[in-house]
Amino acid sequence: MSTKVFPLPESEINAFAAKVETPFHIYDEAAIENNVRRIQRAFAWNEGFINYFAVKALPNVNIVRMLGSLGFGADCSSLAELIIAEQAGITGERIMFTSNDTPDEEFRKAYELGAVLNLDDITHIEAVERAVGSFPETVSFRYNPGAERTGNAIIGNPVESKYGVTRSQIFDCYRIAKEKGAKHFMLHTMVASNELDASYIVETARMLFMLVNEIRKKTGIIIERVDLGGGVGIPYRPEDKAISFEKLGDEIHRLYEEMVDYPLKVSFEMGRAITGPYGYLVTRVRHVAHKYKDYVGVDATMADLMRPAMYGAYHHITVPGKDDWPHDHKYDVTGSLCENNDKFAINRMLPELERGDLLIIHDTGAHGHSMGFNYNGKLRHAEYLIRKDGSIAMIRRAETIEDYLRTQLDEPLEI
Ligand SMILES: *Cc1c(COP(=O)(O)O)cnc(C)c1O
Repeated sequence: MSTKVFPLPESEINAFAAKVETPFHIYDEAAIENNVRRIQRAFAWNEGFINYFAVKALPNVNIVRMLGSLGFGADCSSLAELIIAEQAGITGERIMFTSNDTPDEEFRKAYELGAVLNLDDITHIEAVERAVGSFPETVSFRYNPGAERTGNAIIGNPVESKYGVTRSQIFDCYRIAKEKGAKHFMLHTMVASNELDASYIVETARMLFMLVNEIRKKTGIIIERVDLGGGVGIPYRPEDKAISFEKLGDEIHRLYEEMVDYPLKVSFEMGRAITGPYGYLVTRVRHVAHKYKDYVGVDATMADLMRPAMYGAYHHITVPGKDDWPHDHKYDVTGSLCENNDKFAINRMLPELERGDLLIIHDTGAHGHSMGFNYNGKLRHAEYLIRKDGSIAMIRRAETIEDYLRTQLDEPLEI
């Protein structure tokens, strides 16, 4: 069971939402910080442990800076994400650059920042050389285990996955990189997404510890760090159970003691599990309509939170002030896009709702605002942070219609 409570009392969120425009995202700094410290304690046995926060989950410089100041690194997959990490003060090998189908300019930027280049393909060895004019001293490869390992339900079968270097290529990757002058080596994999079964992640660690030993035996190359990627799940449904970081840390520690006989560093690239449960989309009921079904039209749309429409994902919804009411009304909660899948919930039992009610959509702190888009001319909403002292600060303003129209040319430009 995971309880779904919003960090502010009803009176406070009502007063705040009356003062600003809805919808908006709001994040809980104290809760994120506690979470970070828990993870660091759970892996304190490993000298050099780091979580490279997957910037794509919540690409706001204020959040990334805060995570950086707590000791996290950044996992970036694009130029913009590299720039956010840089602006947040995270540079050098505290950046893991895990890209695929990578443009040369992104290799250059990552190299310039001193990031670890985590290569997705054997041909990227030459691509990096071509792009940056030399070869980095530290290099990582993304491993795709293929049929050796079944992917979890969400990420799918590794054999069908576009990512990573195959088992038959991985040894050559390290050999070639060494010939080109690399001196420090890391190994990465990512075979899970939103995984709530800790044993799946432990088994992934086992696979990498085995591979590290095999690489050493076959090539003489010593891998200095294994990176278990992201994909640690969060309990979106109240009946889901969160992964215990303490247990995960202990179990990986036990394997490590058994299988690793040198100071190998361990890392993750968790995004969702870091900020996901500590962000909320706050939206207001605009219309309640009774058609063949009962609809609650809110002022957010799937352009503000894509997961329910895109993956059929469950996001818990609570109504400040009505938590104790009987949940005896069945609604579809919809946005205003001209798309019938623009729904945050289908057949959801909620208290009776009326125009003006605030709804809190839970667990939107990762892959929420960041997956937003502008279809139907919807403007991206603002982001706020509840700071540790209880004050609330804006950390991203809402888009304006001018922002939206800015790239459009009134006068066609002849090329
Ligand atoms: C998406 C992604 C992550 C983060 O995944 P979460 O599910 O947010 O933990 C980490 N690494 C890579 C390479 C990714 O693509």
